[in-house]
Amino acid sequence: MINDIEVIKTKSSKINEVDFDNLKFGSVFSDHMLVCDYKNGKWQAPKVMPYQGITLDPSAKIFHYGQSVFEGMKAYKDAEDNVWLFRPLDNCKRLNISSKRLAIPELPEDYFMEGLKALLEVDKDWIPKKDGSSLYIRPFVFASGEGFHASPADEYKFLICTAPSGSYFSGEVKVLIEEKYSRSANGGVGFAKAGGNYAGQFYPTQLAKEKGYQQVIWTDDNTHEYIEEAGAMNIFVRINDTLITGPTSDRILDGITRKSIIELAKAEGINVDVRKLRVDEVVEAAKNGSLKEMFGAGTAAVISPIAGFGYKGEDYDLPKMDDTYANFLKKRITDIQTNKAEDPFGWRY
Ligand code: PMP
Repeated sequence: MINDIEVIKTKSSKINEVDFDNLKFGSVFSDHMLVCDYKNGKWQAPKVMPYQGITLDPSAKIFHYGQSVFEGMKAYKDAEDNVWLFRPLDNCKRLNISSKRLAIPELPEDYFMEGLKALLEVDKDWIPKKDGSSLYIRPFVFASGEGFHASPADEYKFLICTAPSGSYFSGEVKVLIEEKYSRSANGGVGFAKAGGNYAGQFYPTQLAKEKGYQQVIWTDDNTHEYIEEAGAMNIFVRINDTLITGPTSDRILDGITRKSIIELAKAEGINVDVRKLRVDEVVEAAKNGSLKEMFGAGTAAVISPIAGFGYKGEDYDLPKMDDTYANFLKKRITDIQTNKAEDPFGWRY
């Protein structure tokens, strides 16, 4: 167990420079950060310090071999100023699952949890209260150890930085179902939140944007016949009244929003099918009118409705409906996250 965490406070807070009524997503950063170093074969005591740049040797392995993993989570403030997290231990576990795959030493759970609590205590005034806003939390680990040899580093840094944020997406998105590029492969690192996974997504996403789509729907690397993820989100497709999402695998991130939606939808009596979903089936459903909804699910946007998709040169629109599962489930989840509703699942922390 770690004892008290050292806290070095900033001498000049930036909080008065921030317009909390007009926050973008992840663009301004709170006064403090948590920093924890791995050296001499062990994680050293974490400490909270003023948000600032970090100096690295040009040969630091993060720059050359990409050993880096991260997490994304949020803190919310309720009407009584209580601060809530959503399933934070799952983020800690997933960070370590990602680290293990990238040959990064795993972090003790209490370093993550106690470090996070100490950071949020110091920066609690940065947690926005406005509906739809939250404090976005970015824990990450990267190789700071030096040397031009392609082998795991002997030194790492674990940091947590936070950013008061408004809602992530505005409006519905048009997506392109990918036929050529892949974000992940069997035996690869798709299930990990490894930095390089996102770098690999940018170029195909740029191409999709040039064609007028905002996001890419990833398909399996082998055949491109199965729907897998939506940008950096898991994906749900509603055909008639059944909500379908693919099973997690080497290639699909085990999203915390995804698994919460599955549980919540089932508890609400919605039919949920976790199974592989063929692109053909979605196209056919769009043609015969049984395709009702598609949406992405992830911490940042919670649920991001899809207005239409492109595939093999054809565009398909989704119906405009008032009573969507997307709206219903988004409200249920955010009400639980922000302490506006009972939490029968024990997710709120
Ligand atoms: N898939 C990918 C590739 C992601 O980066 C994310 C965001 N972490 C998700 C799915 C959604 O995961 P979560 O609900 O835990 O944010």
